[in-house]
Amino acid sequence: MGDALVIGAGIGGLTAAAALAERGWTVTVCERASSIEPVGSGLAIAPNALRALDTIGVGDRVRELAALQGVAGIRRASGGWLSRTSAEAAQARYGDPIVLLRRATVMELLAGLLPPGALRLNTAVHDVDASSGRVSTDAGELRADLVVAADGIRSAARRALFPGHPDPVYSGTTAWRFVVSGRGIAALNGAESWGRGEVFGVMPLAGDEVYCYATATVPSGPGHADPAEEKAELLRRFGTWHAPIPALVERADPAEVIRSDVFFMDTPLPAFHRGRVALLGDAAHAMTPNLGQGACQAIEDAVTLAHHVSAGSVERGLAAYTRDRLPRTTGIVRRSAAINRLTRWSNPVAVAARDGMMSLAGLAGPTAALRQADATFNWWPPA
Ligand SMILES: Cc1cc2nc3c(=O)[nH]c(=O)nc-3n(C[C@H](O)[C@H](O)[C@H](O)COP(=O)(O)OP(=O)(O)OC[C@H]3O[C@@H](n4cnc5c(N)ncnc54)[C@H](O)[C@@H]3O)c2cc1C
Repeated sequence: MGDALVIGAGIGGLTAAAALAERGWTVTVCERASSIEPVGSGLAIAPNALRALDTIGVGDRVRELAALQGVAGIRRASGGWLSRTSAEAAQARYGDPIVLLRRATVMELLAGLLPPGALRLNTAVHDVDASSGRVSTDAGELRADLVVAADGIRSAARRALFPGHPDPVYSGTTAWRFVVSGRGIAALNGAESWGRGEVFGVMPLAGDEVYCYATATVPSGPGHADPAEEKAELLRRFGTWHAPIPALVERADPAEVIRSDVFFMDTPLPAFHRGRVALLGDAAHAMTPNLGQGACQAIEDAVTLAHHVSAGSVERGLAAYTRDRLPRTTGIVRRSAAINRLTRWSNPVAVAARDGMMSLAGLAGPTAALRQADATFNWWPPA
């Protein structure tokens, strides 16, 4: 195999580097940040991504370190269940449940798979030449047989490869994330609660921790300068929702609450490669977080790419990569955006109708509630 240069040490870039190294590529990962320490939040990994992680030998370690998403489903802001399923039902249907971990745990496991010296921190990539594979970086010019651009939603590589392609658009929602201790809190079920234009998610992690996230329908903007104000806003919005949401928000350390506007790629790219360069993860198909699939799809991309480019010529491998990944991720981006639209409804009549439909569907039981995830979760890595 040849030399592969990966731009970005996020979940997508690290998985790609590990998968390529395992197949004999000499890998260099350029990351502009000074560490790979991710923002302090949780991550849901679904059965499709667990199967992909199995191919690089970390699936079981992820399962061991994770909390299972026990009871899960959608609730009203007042607490009643609209639909409910369970880890057992998911395990029976897909062979794995959805598992929940701290993002940092996943990053550490993936970084641990890299060959010594492969990761170059403080090394921003400034320019990529798709046909020659030349890349200009803080550390000078590098050349590779394959360049993997995993540089995230604001990907400069995407702009260079597909100039004029529309940038990601604002979804209409902003998101907050934080992790707190769940010690002493009774009835800690994993669930997402839907209100009028607002959502609050509760995801128990291993070791008594709880990952919380929330979204609200607001204009795009930087949020509050004072972290205490950000927490105050969460209390204003969710302080009267069902238990344990107010108690969890009360426990949040304002300095640890992350707020980020949610953008996604409304217009799919025409291809996920150009010349010797592959785009991967959010750089290729940023999506809203409503299906919990952004990182899962980056992981799928990574192992699929490593498979195709290792089977023959890089050129043919990249064409096969686009053929495999573009239709699948386009469908998932669309489905995720459609759910995002439903969460933004605030008209009381529309919300009552939406909730009525969901609770009717929920009556069909835990397996029926999962069925809509079949297209996403029933994915196997290329053999
Ligand atoms: C609120 C919220 C909740 C989410 N929850 C989930 C979930 O539960 N499950 C799930 O699967 N997904 C989830 N996602 C989506 C997930 O976070 C992203 O899809 C995923 O992190 C994308 O990974 P990536 O590697 O493609 O990009 P990133 O994580 O953005 O990594 C890109 C990396 O490239 C580096 N970089 C950028 N430019 C350069 C450059 N020029 N030179 C060198 N380095 C560069 C950056 O510093 C960064 O480290 C969620 C998203 C949000 C907003």
